[in-house]
Amino acid sequence: MDLINTCFATTNEVRTLAYYSHLLPIIVSLLLGTVVLLYAKNRNKAILFFTFVVLLSLWLTGNLVTWVSNNYYLVAGFWSYLDFVNILFYLFILYFLLIDVGASKRFQIGAMITGFLASIPPFIITLAGLAVYEFDEPNCEMIGNDWLALYKLSFEWFVIVVIVLTAIISLIKVYSKRNEFKRILLTTISTVGFLAIFSGTEFLATYTGVYEINLYALFTLPVFILLLTISIFEFRTFKMVVDSISMVRVLFAIFAIVTIINLFFIDDTGEFIITGTGAAVTLGFGLLVLRSATREASQRQQIEHLAKRLKQANKRLKTLDKQKSEFVSIASHQLRSPLTAIIGYASLLQEGSYGRIPAKAKQPVERIYTSARSMAESVEDYLNVSRIESGSMKYEMSNFNLKDEVEYICDDLRTDAMKKGLVLFFKTDLDSSAMVHADLGKIKQSIHNLINNSIKYTEKGKITVLVRDDVKKKKIYVEISDTGIGMDEETISNIFQKFERAVNANKTNIQGTGLGLYMALKIAEAMKGTVRAESEGEGKGSKFIMELPLVK
Ligand code: ADP
Repeated sequence: MDLINTCFATTNEVRTLAYYSHLLPIIVSLLLGTVVLLYAKNRNKAILFFTFVVLLSLWLTGNLVTWVSNNYYLVAGFWSYLDFVNILFYLFILYFLLIDVGASKRFQIGAMITGFLASIPPFIITLAGLAVYEFDEPNCEMIGNDWLALYKLSFEWFVIVVIVLTAIISLIKVYSKRNEFKRILLTTISTVGFLAIFSGTEFLATYTGVYEINLYALFTLPVFILLLTISIFEFRTFKMVVDSISMVRVLFAIFAIVTIINLFFIDDTGEFIITGTGAAVTLGFGLLVLRSATREASQRQQIEHLAKRLKQANKRLKTLDKQKSEFVSIASHQLRSPLTAIIGYASLLQEGSYGRIPAKAKQPVERIYTSARSMAESVEDYLNVSRIESGSMKYEMSNFNLKDEVEYICDDLRTDAMKKGLVLFFKTDLDSSAMVHADLGKIKQSIHNLINNSIKYTEKGKITVLVRDDVKKKKIYVEISDTGIGMDEETISNIFQKFERAVNANKTNIQGTGLGLYMALKIAEAMKGTVRAESEGEGKGSKFIMELPLVK
């Protein structure tokens, strides 16, 4: 049988336009649908979405044939199923959206049954060959079934209205959950936008008789399909394991396909070579960029993952730290009263309040007294740390002469230094009295600790305590230098943290809580000052500097 070629009314320009406007949405939707089908965890939604894009592509293919073909049989054959397929993909996007926005089960089932029943009459009409009547030769079209066209248009608008209403109800329900709200909003906007453009332009084209409107409108479809993609990727509509780089890949694939298709429309050899070379360079370059972007993205993903885990671990550590402080605080309170009793009675025993103690017992009683004292000091340290951490530490502020106070402390500790064979110097370049505004007791305690540390961690040599000021900076400094065990850089950066003790400290002085420096720093900071350490390295001595603001 001869093929009847009649449709010469379709110009080449319109044909090219028809190719572009149809092929682009076909490629975009099929690619996206496949990605979804491959990666989606929610199988129901993925299958519905995939069926929707396949039906849409089927419709687009059929429609394309009716636009570009001159073959009567082809045009008639494809035209006859278009309306029914059109109804079907509306039905599937409705099913998809109902599940996606979380409509109630009863409503979902009701809508599905109604939709299915509503698609039966067009199915019968199409099957019976009543969808199209005859070929309208001068207009290059089929004469379709008017009733079916009207039915289809009503069906389309009904679906759009149901989708909008369901989405509004869901949006109201999830209003407080920001992410869910944004996700549903984006899915709804992209779906409704897609359907409204599709049905709206169809209606407009029928009304005005300018069918090219349909072709231009098809160009907007990929935008909505992409929006839907974004909603899928960004908000994990399908709980996908893919990230935004996959979307860039999809876009690149679309770009590549469109560029290659474009080449087929070029008749001129010269133009073909130029465009072809341009396309090859662009695609090659794009591929390189994509590769490095993929690498970067996977690294970023790894870092994000690690950062998330670190944050969780940090949170857990903070909770544990708080629990630990609470425990220490309770335990210390419990320890304080028996210790006070031990110290008190040991002291009374030594003073002879219970009669003369035998010579043999003198030393043990002395040991009981000193050990209990040092334990009481540690307990006091623990309590102070938990007070600092809970913010309940009380400071009694007053103005005092720091230089004099430091000198008294040096006088106090000189005997201890001498016992170890060390010399303790006190130096100052201050002429007048330099006043500070701070908690006298706590500052004295901190400086006492710093000098005491220098004695503890120095085997031989000297300890020099210098008090100097910097009037311009309005600061006063207490510098304690020793010729002791020194510290490496790592130790310096750690020792101001709670319970931190250097390895060499353990060797020199087994006893120690690792709390002295932590507290000295916290107390100085509360007085708007600071404490820092310097050392040339292990075995090369250390220098601790306390800095406080000058009152005048
Ligand atoms: P403690 O002395 O009870 O261990 P500190 O908080 O006072 O606790 O000191 C923390 C650590 O800092 C010490 O264990 C020691 O490693 C180091 N350190 C402090 N002072 C000196 C010093 N003068 N020389 C060398 N190391 C020191």
